[in-house]
Amino acid sequence: MKIIYKDGTVAECPQDQELHVLRHTAAHIMAQAIKRLYPEADFAFGPATENGFYYDVDLGDTKLTDEDLAAIEKEMRKICKENLPVKPFVLPRDEAIKLMEERQEHYKIEHIGDLADETEFSFYQQGEYVDMCIGPHLTYTKGLKAFKITQQSGAYWKNDKENKMLTRINGVAFRNQEELDAWEKQQQEARERDHRKIGKEMHLFMTDDLVGRGLPMFLPNGYTVWQQLEDYIKQKERDRGYLHVMTPCIGTVNLYRTSGHWDHYRENMFPAMEMEGESYVLRPMNCPHHMMIYANQPHSYRQLPIRIGEIAHDFRYESSGTLKGIERGRHFCQNDAHLFVTPEQIKDEVSAVCALIFDVYKDFHITDYRCVLSLRDPADKKKYHDDDAMWNHAEQALREVLTDLGIDFTEEIGEAAFYGPKLDVNVKPAVGAEYTLSTCQLDFCLPAKFHLTYVDKDGSEKTPVVLHRAILGSLDRFMAYLIEETKGRFPTWLAPTQVKVLPVSEKTLDYSRDVYEKLKAADIRVVLDESNEKIGYKIRQAQQEDRAPYMLVLGAKEVEAGNISVRNRKGETTAMSLDEFIAQLKTEIADKTFNV
Ligand SMILES: [Zn+2]
Ligand SMILES: [Zn+2]
Repeated sequence: MKIIYKDGTVAECPQDQELHVLRHTAAHIMAQAIKRLYPEADFAFGPATENGFYYDVDLGDTKLTDEDLAAIEKEMRKICKENLPVKPFVLPRDEAIKLMEERQEHYKIEHIGDLADETEFSFYQQGEYVDMCIGPHLTYTKGLKAFKITQQSGAYWKNDKENKMLTRINGVAFRNQEELDAWEKQQQEARERDHRKIGKEMHLFMTDDLVGRGLPMFLPNGYTVWQQLEDYIKQKERDRGYLHVMTPCIGTVNLYRTSGHWDHYRENMFPAMEMEGESYVLRPMNCPHHMMIYANQPHSYRQLPIRIGEIAHDFRYESSGTLKGIERGRHFCQNDAHLFVTPEQIKDEVSAVCALIFDVYKDFHITDYRCVLSLRDPADKKKYHDDDAMWNHAEQALREVLTDLGIDFTEEIGEAAFYGPKLDVNVKPAVGAEYTLSTCQLDFCLPAKFHLTYVDKDGSEKTPVVLHRAILGSLDRFMAYLIEETKGRFPTWLAPTQVKVLPVSEKTLDYSRDVYEKLKAADIRVVLDESNEKIGYKIRQAQQEDRAPYMLVLGAKEVEAGNISVRNRKGETTAMSLDEFIAQLKTEIADKTFNV
């Protein structure tokens, strides 16, 4: 792929820049097409993006329809076909301004004014179109082969709310049609897996602006899954010596002043409420409450480590543009815990946390993850809590734990919080970007702020170290992740409906009711479809709505044999006795078999 630099040099494009150059050229071609169709268009910025490009354009009062976007795309294809050469030239400041004035490019003139130190400005021309740009670009417009305009939105000039709202037109561009097709397929996949779509189809949760944006409500089906997750993780924690507590999701501003959140985290919090001369806030996190629980009684080194866990309700102010179903809301529940340890116990406790994380990942078949150690920058110690020995000890402990467990990890120097190093486990979902699911964060500062102490062997008072840790992260977000991973086909132990009983006709309704009652008595989450629909319709609806792991299709044959016909999600059907089936289900649920 040949490209042309602003000084006119033509060269082979370095491979890692191909897409960027291609996409940036696509932005120019789109601007040219817009200018042909809307001669009054005034262009702001038009960069390459992650998958494509956009251009912000001032179209006056013109609002673009989908047909208009299609027409722009068509004109772009024409420009590619015309195979115009793309040529750069350079002008001194006054001539650059003159050219842009002739062409009525007001935003470009303002931009030249902003670049006060520059004496020269480069331009690229293709056919009748000229854009101020530093390049490089493709040498001919035919080089752009696979692209698509995807959407339009509003964007402020220079991203400033005080400025005029421009029209942002987005597109995607790839090297060839195969890459574009792959991208479209991925988009389709993302739409199909979208937890908001599946959540609606399966009646898992709802949102309503009257309740509030970013405040999802779990419906009976969704809450069933949620409760299973809660019970599951609490049991795992109890097995490992955690003690669970329940604390209020509101606290005084002074509590958050003590913890430091009020000074450093306030923009993520809802504003304070005044009551009886005291200020209260909805809590964004649970650390201060748990610190107070530790402080409630004196501790000896013999009692440590103390592990306090809670499935805790938190509230954070998220801007409305970032809200996304139960993946990102303004209310969520954290699978949170705080471990109070002596410095000598850091390594063992971090190791136990890691063991718990990977034990849980095994149950959910999470294999695509990446461990990241965030460490302090030793060259910039002023930025961090001042305790050299503690930092060295803790960072070494984190490294050793991962090495001992034989787990690959990367180290990110300078990424630690000022109060301590941390380990993040990032997972790669079926669609979308990697995100941090589990975390184990050491804290050398918070215990001192709350004057937490323990009496050591020698009788002296010491300050414990705190480990903030989350395994499933936010339970709500984890559920969104699970929905998208499994397309709502939860394993039996989590499925809101574990078995759906489908009588073939009214004649087998009594038998079906019997089967239903027996399953219910065996504590299986079972639904009986008593509707008058045809069996084919019932099956399709069960697949779409319940996504139950098992359907029992009960007809005359089953009644006569006194057994059941079990249909799994793969569509395989097996005849067996109800007792056999119940026994099989019980094992599957107890083993948490991941049959998705
Ligand atoms: Zn450009
Ligand atoms: Zn915490």
